[in-house]
Amino acid sequence: MPMSSYSLPKPHLTPVAFAPLLVLVFLGLVPWALFAQPLKVAATTTMVSDLVRQVGGDQVTVEGLMGPGVDPHLYKPTATDVLKLQRAEVIFYNGLVLEGKMTDLFARMARTKKHVYAVTESIPLEQLLEPPEFQGHYDPHVWLDVTLWAKCVDTVVKGLSEARPDAAEAFTRRGAEVKKQMHHLHEWARAKAAELPESRRILVTSHDAYNYFGRAYGFQVVGLQGVSTVTEAGLADITKMVDFIRAKDIRAIFVESSVSPAAIQRISQDAGVKVGGELFSDAMGTPGKMENGYDLGTYNGMIRHNLETIVNALK
Ligand code: ZN
Repeated sequence: MPMSSYSLPKPHLTPVAFAPLLVLVFLGLVPWALFAQPLKVAATTTMVSDLVRQVGGDQVTVEGLMGPGVDPHLYKPTATDVLKLQRAEVIFYNGLVLEGKMTDLFARMARTKKHVYAVTESIPLEQLLEPPEFQGHYDPHVWLDVTLWAKCVDTVVKGLSEARPDAAEAFTRRGAEVKKQMHHLHEWARAKAAELPESRRILVTSHDAYNYFGRAYGFQVVGLQGVSTVTEAGLADITKMVDFIRAKDIRAIFVESSVSPAAIQRISQDAGVKVGGELFSDAMGTPGKMENGYDLGTYNGMIRHNLETIVNALK
């Protein structure tokens, strides 16, 4: 371990309190991790950043590359991002080609000595969806099924522990706690969805981000743009969608915070159906913005906002 890692005491320790503790460290009675500087981590989407912060606690500092409202399918790394990635000791990204324009960069970073992980690597392949529109690729939007996102905790625990083995126990303990909270969130989401009769559980949105959500919470999901946002919706899709909405007597359709709302607004007018609200698909909300007691800039807030918005509008 480099000298600088234990030359700085934690801010709340006064020099007087610090000296005896240092003795205990040398005696092997207190782990080095207590004195280590936080592990420098870089993460791509807001969901991945949130996951790493939850598991890492105050033993990590996370630099997120993408903010609220940012579309990861189209996101190109800036010069600042490259710097952040170079400075980081560990890098976490979603994977499954979500960050389509950053693949080469991650491959390059992985060739250096850095720890680079796609959080989705701990999801068993048989639980992934391969929609026909996304030929040959898996659907990357796994975080919208809370049980799948909980599996990604394992990669984060592994990645942080490999970079900082002396803190592995703390990462494992916090990882288990995060999974427990996610289990409760999933049960809440299932109960919320069940407030709607099955015939009303049809979700129309901008792009196909909700396949896993639909499978987990019992919705038929219809996205206008396909799995990625790279191709914009054509007129034929819009006409088909208007017909579908009328035929199924759907009460509301939804825009997404990270995708242009234009096409959905046009369909709303053409089909005479209301826009039921804005959902979070590929990015969480603004940190600190509260709704019903939940911070929309957290994963928990994101999932609760989506369920409440969808269920209230389709009731
Ligand atoms: Zn997406």
